[in-house]
Amino acid sequence: MPDCAFCRIAKKEVNAQVIYEDDLCVAFKDLNPQAPFHALVIPRRHVTNLLGATEQDAEILGHLLLVCNGVAKGAGVAGSGFRVVTNSNADAGQSVDHIHFHVLGGRQMGWPPG
Ligand code: AMP
Ligand code: ZN
Repeated sequence: MPDCAFCRIAKKEVNAQVIYEDDLCVAFKDLNPQAPFHALVIPRRHVTNLLGATEQDAEILGHLLLVCNGVAKGAGVAGSGFRVVTNSNADAGQSVDHIHFHVLGGRQMGWPPG
């Protein structure tokens, strides 16, 4: 998707603070962090959000969650606790239409989420 900000990050056309990448995904620091540690994990392939995923994406979705796991451990926030969030559509506050998992940690989280 040429106009997609996260496709452009995945293709290195736009800079980001990348903390992990492999053939299938990229993890990078969020520009506007909502916690002491806040990263985003995205597939290289453009999928709009969770609703855009199909059975064909089952493997990549599992991989993305395992990368969230590794990213939280690497940041040192896994033991104290961390949260993985994916927003889908307007009421959830999705602002970038390329599926991404937020990995948030380093502070006490509230529940329910706002
Ligand atoms: P969401 O509101 O769930 O769609 O989350 C989008 C997230 O992407 C927000 O937390 C933004 O701060 C973040 N974001 C948007 N553009 C960039 C960018 N170029 N680099 C890093 N994070 C970004
Ligand atoms: Zn995209």
